[in-house]
Amino acid sequence: MKDRALEEKPACSVKAAPFPEAVACPQCGSETEIWSDETDAACTSCGCKVDHTTC
Ligand SMILES: [Zn+2]
Repeated sequence: MKDRALEEKPACSVKAAPFPEAVACPQCGSETEIWSDETDAACTSCGCKVDHTTC
């Protein structure tokens, strides 16, 4: 058994790397990017709080 091998994480192959998701601001309609590892972000245009569930 080589349990140690499972714990090693190659820097170049991170599966859970965060990625930006474009969401339209409910207030002004401007597209704002929210990173997948964050729950919300401020709209770049109006500062309104935008989250992943906002459509
Ligand atoms: Zn906005």
